[in-house]
Amino acid sequence: MADEVVVIEGDGIGREVVPAAVEVLEAFDIDFEFVEAEAGDAVKEATGEALPTETYETVADADATLFGAAGETAADVILPLRDAVDSFVNVRPAKAYPGVDALRPETDVVFLRENTEGVYAGHEDRLSEDLSTLTRVVTASASRELAEYACEFVGDGRGPDGRDGFTVAHKSNVMRETDGRFRREVLAVAEERGVDADEELMDAFATKLPLDPSQYGVVVCPNLAGDVLSDLAAGLVGGLGLLPSANVGHENGLFEPVHGTAPDIAGEGIANPTAAVLSAAMLLEHLGHVEEGGRVRTAVESVLSDGPRTGDLGGDATTEEVTAAIVDRL
Ligand code: ATP
Ligand code: MG
Repeated sequence: MADEVVVIEGDGIGREVVPAAVEVLEAFDIDFEFVEAEAGDAVKEATGEALPTETYETVADADATLFGAAGETAADVILPLRDAVDSFVNVRPAKAYPGVDALRPETDVVFLRENTEGVYAGHEDRLSEDLSTLTRVVTASASRELAEYACEFVGDGRGPDGRDGFTVAHKSNVMRETDGRFRREVLAVAEERGVDADEELMDAFATKLPLDPSQYGVVVCPNLAGDVLSDLAAGLVGGLGLLPSANVGHENGLFEPVHGTAPDIAGEGIANPTAAVLSAAMLLEHLGHVEEGGRVRTAVESVLSDGPRTGDLGGDATTEEVTAAIVDRL
């Protein structure tokens, strides 16, 4: 049966980089059924809804979704979409490539961020004119599920350099109950599975990562910490145009570049398609096309090292020229 892949370009450069990623997927002899759907500012302007019910349902029923970016409506779109695919982990690789200027060229780290709870699932309250509060949610079940995913991830050799262990970052010395639970459950699963896991306080991690990223491979984090620390790692590798991400669910998944709509360059045909194309590689792997996903990565690396490059990487090639070069090297 064909894999049903929903394609949502969204706004801004999403309209340029998502078609590029689809072109790469189409280069393979895989039976995809692409279904186009709408979300974001443009559809909100037209219909009043940033995420039409039809889009939500199409995404929920599909095998995977490739998403570009949404502008002002980003939170109204992406949070429900993560829910539609039942995502429990956000996978954020940050890898520096030869030939691309990076603050830390040796960076090759994959963040596995808890995607359903923490402070993002907490409830904010204004209790008085002086006092606002936030509750934080941590369950053993979500912590264990994330840890199980991490064990499989490194067990399958998907960690940088095939590393077979992971690091858990937390702040359980202060948040003894919530991060204490998170830490305990993650480490317990690793031990049950016979997987090497070490731990790091997240503030110490934030210092040590930029000083020497080579000491880390796969990093497992609570939701907010994963958000912040993966952005920190993004800063080490040379540009938003390179960074893919995956919201992985039990059956389904949502794959999207880390960057937004880039209104400053939207519509000019000069956006870097790499982040979207690498998101498509993650989508391929998620659907079991592991060999093809690897071929996309290799082609992207080859183009980054000596092929045409877009303006953000100091070149003057268009989105289409870079995409054609990637397809050519598949
Ligand atoms: P949004 O609110 O949608 O996130 P933004 O203004 O924050 O929009 P981003 O998309 O986050 O814009 O991009 C930040 C900067 O990085 C912009 O200057 C943008 O041009 C650049 N940038 C982001 N993605 C790419 C890309 N794929 N190719 C080239 N430049 C990019
Ligand atoms: Mg942005």
